[in-house]
Amino acid sequence: MSADPRSLDAAETRRRPPAAQRWALWFFLSAIVGGLLVTLIWLAGRYEASREQERLERDAAEALSDVRSAMGRNVQSLQALQAGSPGVQAWGAEAQRLLHERREMLRIEWRDAQLGVRAAVDTPYRPPVFARLGRASAQADVQLACANARRSSGAGYAASYFVPQADGLGLEVLELCLPQLAGGQITGFVVATYSLADILANLVSPHLTRSQEVSFTEADGTRLALHGSTRRGTRVFSAQQLLDLPGYTLVLRLDSWRGQPDVFPNVLTALVTAMSIALLAVLFLLGKDTRRRLQAEHELAEALAFRKAMEDSLVTGLRARDLRGRTTYINPAFCAMVGFAPEELIGRDAPMPYWPPELAGEYQKRQEIRLAGHNAPPREGFESVFMRKDGTRFPVLIIEAPLIDARGVQTGWMSAFLDISEQRRIEELSRASQERLQATARLATVGEMASLLSHELNQPLAAISSYATGSLNLLEPRAGGVDPADLQLALRRIAEQAERAGRVIKSVHDFVRRRDKAREPVAPQALIDAVMPLVGLQARKLGVQVVTRIAPQLPAVLVDRTMVEQVLLNLARNAMQAMDAAGVAQPALVIAVRQAGGGSTSGNATGTEAGWLEFSVADRGPGIPDEVREQLFTPFFTTKAEGMGLGLSLCRTVVEQHGGFLAFEANRPQGTIFRFTLPAEGAAAHAPALPAEATTA
Ligand code: ADP
Repeated sequence: MSADPRSLDAAETRRRPPAAQRWALWFFLSAIVGGLLVTLIWLAGRYEASREQERLERDAAEALSDVRSAMGRNVQSLQALQAGSPGVQAWGAEAQRLLHERREMLRIEWRDAQLGVRAAVDTPYRPPVFARLGRASAQADVQLACANARRSSGAGYAASYFVPQADGLGLEVLELCLPQLAGGQITGFVVATYSLADILANLVSPHLTRSQEVSFTEADGTRLALHGSTRRGTRVFSAQQLLDLPGYTLVLRLDSWRGQPDVFPNVLTALVTAMSIALLAVLFLLGKDTRRRLQAEHELAEALAFRKAMEDSLVTGLRARDLRGRTTYINPAFCAMVGFAPEELIGRDAPMPYWPPELAGEYQKRQEIRLAGHNAPPREGFESVFMRKDGTRFPVLIIEAPLIDARGVQTGWMSAFLDISEQRRIEELSRASQERLQATARLATVGEMASLLSHELNQPLAAISSYATGSLNLLEPRAGGVDPADLQLALRRIAEQAERAGRVIKSVHDFVRRRDKAREPVAPQALIDAVMPLVGLQARKLGVQVVTRIAPQLPAVLVDRTMVEQVLLNLARNAMQAMDAAGVAQPALVIAVRQAGGGSTSGNATGTEAGWLEFSVADRGPGIPDEVREQLFTPFFTTKAEGMGLGLSLCRTVVEQHGGFLAFEANRPQGTIFRFTLPAEGAAAHAPALPAEATTA
């Protein structure tokens, strides 16, 4: 793999010939192959023709030798006729037998020395040849033949001639003359008349005439006699042989026909043609294959270019190493990350130049372990520190995976690198701001605690102050003197309230710290009793009648006692203040406790509601106007000049911390009822729903 995509592209264009050149190459190749094939077929055709010609020549020679030897045999047979000076009768019988045997001879005559006919026999196979014209018409030819015979003292022939026949046709005949010698003197002649057509039909072997035409012609080509198959095809092959008879020369001609044009003249040509077609087919397939290859090559180049573009545009650094730890590939992002050029890194072995020198030993060990294949790299990657070329260190996240080739064999390791300096910076920033936030939150908590304390301490302090004022009043000199019992009670109340203030401080502190305070089971009666002295104090001051209604046999509630007392105190105080502010004629406060679910103590509560107690504080005040209703539980919301607006929000928080609900509803005929639920000992985990008419905030 090369790190420079440009050099790759350049090499690619150099290697690939332009399309026109490629097409020209294909054109030439096709032309050459085509030319070769045409030549081959033509040569094969010519070869075939020459073979045919040769065969024909051989056949012609064979036919000629057939004719020649048969005619020689005939001459001997004719000579044998005269042997032993036979009588005319006996000669006739013998000649008859000969003509019976030799169909090519039409007539045999015995002539005297002056060529007068002594005896004559005609062939039994056809009507006498000279019946129409008379034998005398051929006298000249007979004389010529016998003159030749006389001159050579052997068989002599004369030129053939045409004898018309009764059936309208005619015969080309040839005269043969044999001299009859006795004591060196010619005593007579045997004249035989050959039919040229019958010579061809009977003397040439049938296998030669079966598929070709055999004929006698004159030297100038005039056809004299013909035998053989009818013409087929258009192309003619001819072979000629000379039949030189003493006194006359004939041309024996053999004609053979062949189809023309003959595309597949023989097996050889067919084979060559088939091979040519196969070659063309292979060429075609090769062409198709090349086209497919070109297409694939093109697609591959595109895929490669796409992958390169992808690799180059990545911000993740990529690096491949072989199994010996040598770097074989890096992408531009990696080079940019470490600041080294590709040439400085490719082919490099450990220690790499981007390893900080102080960590090189550790990295070297890590690499050795990795290459030995002892431990697989973690999938989620691991962090490391690299060094840029300028010496600055930066943290990287490395994700390594084995590099598997197409055959599934591991060829090395592939690593991805993420520069996480920016991430680190952001983490640091967020950590700092988190710390600042926590500090702010702590400050806010302190503020909240201070507000709560000041709010909750108001009551015990006010109580202490009024008990102290009362005690001082008691100590004033008067007639009856001081009743120590009164003073003792006042001082005890002061001590109680001081202690209560201490508890408030502690539980408010715990509450703000959200510490889970150990809850304790407290009887509802005990809770009411604990708040009654303070409630009674204020009630007496404001002239409010306080009524408590505690259902019998209620279980204890599991609560943070002080906080719940605060809730009761807050609600009672709010109720009395509201009635006082509105100037209600007969102010009355009802504090009630019963089983939750709206039922009586008899326990018609459903299973889920069992174990929850409902506390209610009802007044006959002016009720809560709509505009106040929405903000009732908002901290610091108050309608009173000296109010802090924290009471109800604190109450709700406390009740909800116990798992209960705090809600309010209008009281009939006037006023407000605040209700809240608390878990009885061993209660279900969740609070029961409050009555439907209750408005939860
Ligand atoms: P604070 O008592 O300091 O004002 P609270 O949160 O206890 O703060 O009460 C908020 C407001 O709710 C009161 O200012 C008052 O207007 C209203 N409120 C509370 N209880 C009653 C009630 N029983 N009847 C009428 N108004 C009430």
